[in-house]
Amino acid sequence: MLKQIKGYVIHTTDYQDSSRILNVLTEDGIVAIISKGCKNVKSSLRLVSQKLIYGEFVIYYKEKGMSTLKEGTIINEFSNIKKDLTKFSYFSYITELTSQVVKQNNNKKIFDLFNSTVLKIESGLNPKVMTNILELKLLDFLGVPLNLNECVKCGSRKDIVTIDPDEGGLICKNCYTNEIIYDMKVIKMLRNYSLVEIKSITELKISDELIEFINRIISMYYDRYTGIYIHSKKFLEKIDNLNLK
Ligand SMILES: [Zn+2]
Repeated sequence: MLKQIKGYVIHTTDYQDSSRILNVLTEDGIVAIISKGCKNVKSSLRLVSQKLIYGEFVIYYKEKGMSTLKEGTIINEFSNIKKDLTKFSYFSYITELTSQVVKQNNNKKIFDLFNSTVLKIESGLNPKVMTNILELKLLDFLGVPLNLNECVKCGSRKDIVTIDPDEGGLICKNCYTNEIIYDMKVIKMLRNYSLVEIKSITELKISDELIEFINRIISMYYDRYTGIYIHSKKFLEKIDNLNLK
């Protein structure tokens, strides 16, 4: 059956001499497609069979096993992202993260969140902030949402004094022991991240210090609660440290 799909090539594996297997992230999950002969210079499938492009693919669809690529067109190759190592590192990271989330929860909303985030990074918005916003939203689909409304120990909504990613959320005055105190600005901004619709963001006005606190909190929470390991995260952290120096 011929089928037309749109999606991101998130992973490629060389197959035989001249072919490649593409994993394409679509609204309906990840589709495995064999792109025959695409490594030949003259192949019409060559450009569309590259990693990290968004394209339209006409495939001979097989429900079980691998589909075969008939033809494809690049819709977006993200030339701004690919010109900038930092942006590219974030793109690689969120691609790997999203594909892991989709494997655990095949919800159509995930693709939309990912796609909107990539487009915002391509348009020039801060990749770290956009990544953190996506990460925060993806927690819902991993079944470990970050509760930004009440004390994680007693459930009180009053007298919140800080957030502790190791404890799993907000801490109130009565439950406070010796956690690091974060400014309330951090908690307010985290709430903004969690509520904002990604598509509607046109500019970001957040201090560098606030961005770093939030990035640290989200990263610690991921390590502690999601059980997800992302290979590209180590590289991203290296790039990030170079940028902060
Ligand atoms: Zn409490």
